[in-house]
Amino acid sequence: MTCSFQDLKQQANQHGFRWIESIDVIDAPGFERFRTWIKRGYHGSMSYLADRQAAYENPRSILEQANTIVMLAIPYTAAESLRKHSSSKETDSDKEGNRDDLRDSECGRVAAYATGDKDYHDVIHIRLRALKKWLSARVPGSVVRGVVDTAPILERDFAAAAGLGWIGKNTLLLRKDAGSYFFLAALLTDITFEESKHEKPYTISSDHCGTCTACLDACPTQAFVEPRVLDATRCISYLTIEHRGNIEESVREKMGSWVLGCDVCQQVCPWNRMALTETLEELSSKPSMHAIDLIEILQMSEDAFRAKYRSTPLWRPKLKGMQRNAMIALANQKCASAIAWIEPFQNNEDSILSETANWAIARISQATDSP
Ligand code: SF4
Ligand code: SF4
Repeated sequence: MTCSFQDLKQQANQHGFRWIESIDVIDAPGFERFRTWIKRGYHGSMSYLADRQAAYENPRSILEQANTIVMLAIPYTAAESLRKHSSSKETDSDKEGNRDDLRDSECGRVAAYATGDKDYHDVIHIRLRALKKWLSARVPGSVVRGVVDTAPILERDFAAAAGLGWIGKNTLLLRKDAGSYFFLAALLTDITFEESKHEKPYTISSDHCGTCTACLDACPTQAFVEPRVLDATRCISYLTIEHRGNIEESVREKMGSWVLGCDVCQQVCPWNRMALTETLEELSSKPSMHAIDLIEILQMSEDAFRAKYRSTPLWRPKLKGMQRNAMIALANQKCASAIAWIEPFQNNEDSILSETANWAIARISQATDSP
């Protein structure tokens, strides 16, 4: 039995993957750029990228028999992120904490992709597994492997090469009909699809950024070294999620109230006027994740944090990372009521938490003392 790409497309749509394209297995088009990026240290402490560097060159390092890469995209809700950007203030309906008296300055912001109450990897994995099972049954004896973020593959490059969109100056994949609020996933297989077997190399002519530089100009931490080159060590997404150590003082003040990720370079992108408002229920934005109660985060025990956030994106930085981020956001929002909750961290045995607490209290005190 065989499978046409059209059949696979239909099946993928049924599993929630809105866009799907495929390309023959080739060397990663952006591999040299990736190598230079690592060499310059822009990956920061994400050593798993540097350690597996060579594997990124060709997807056959993940699946030896692979002939085809199928790239899939699945949207997540942009509406909340874009609404907040235009109003730039939380409203009472954003605050779903346990406390009725929760103030704006006690709330932390979460990037749109993480405002679902489930980790997107888990949601996509389940759907990818089902699609893989369908394809394997349709073409007996075939080899298929699904990938969401976890294996060494330059997903954005292959998505662009396959024709799913173009890589914007903000380094994200963009589509004219949907902007950039979507996740990518890949299926590697030894199956060759008649309709999509030709290599479609990504060229800069597919670029629709034109003379726009809105994302480069708006980045609060000036994390773009040049168009399409991001110094992750300055990016709020990396700092709040991946980075485990101290955050440089010069960057802290620019982080505003972001405590998990950052949406600024997507919010300002004109193509995101086309961002979709509907998505799968499991990936939709949940009010409980719109504005995180930072005082509650400071008060939480490991057990309480686990019980509330184990299956959410907040689990990635763990309680310690969230407490560090919370103190920075509270300081940036000059939240005087937070001082009493930050003070106990000044003597914390963890030097990152104690140093951040000292800095946060000094910053809040300075702001509240000034006339
Ligand atoms: S996510 Fe935020 S900090 Fe990172 S590059 Fe985009 S605007 Fe800058
Ligand atoms: S903001 Fe402008 S330059 Fe940046 S990705 Fe969007 S279109 Fe491209």
